Amino acid sequence: MELLFATANKDKLIEVKKMLANDLIKMPIDIGIENFDVIEDGDTLEENSYKKAHELHELTGKPVFADDTGLFVKSLDNRPGIHSHRYASANATYEDNRKKLLEELSDKDDRSAYFETVISYIDPKGEVLYFTGRLYGHISEIERGKGEFGYDKIFIPEDSQNTLAELTIEEKNQISHRARAMEKFKKYLGEI
Ligand code: IMP
Repeated sequence: MELLFATANKDKLIEVKKMLANDLIKMPIDIGIENFDVIEDGDTLEENSYKKAHELHELTGKPVFADDTGLFVKSLDNRPGIHSHRYASANATYEDNRKKLLEELSDKDDRSAYFETVISYIDPKGEVLYFTGRLYGHISEIERGKGEFGYDKIFIPEDSQNTLAELTIEEKNQISHRARAMEKFKKYLGEI
């Protein structure tokens, strides 16, 4: 079955393609939809994830899934949370966001945090299902690692010494929030 992934984020696609091992996953750009950009103004990861899937489903009528992810930091009242993408400013780069977070945490003792991913899936009948995954850990003092994706350089998963950016994609995909949500999604797809 062809599955559309409602994202313009290549970092996510690289991870997800390895998880689903499905050559039939396509991004909007693969089917001629350029500049797929949805305004993520919902109050929850569920709402924003659904908005992305819904927009692509409206355009294509095909089964679509989307992921929305946030980083929730305990001592910052769970910020950046649903605002993880544009945390430092409206046009923030990944690096801007990491810097802002490290600054905000400079005087905090508790650096615990978790990532949460919500996958929404609009099935061939147009029904919506949600799959969630979390990864607990803490925020490092400094950036470490090569992986450039989002907050990976400053997030250390529990039971690890390394940041996510110091892991290979395969290692990250063994434990990540996205992988945990995708596992549930894959199980569901396998069962239908
Ligand atoms: P999105 O709204 O799902 O695109 O995610 C919001 C932001 O969270 C992204 O712009 C990234 O900065 C960050 N993010 C999402 N997934 C990950 C991840 O797996 N590792 C690190 N940062 C991530």
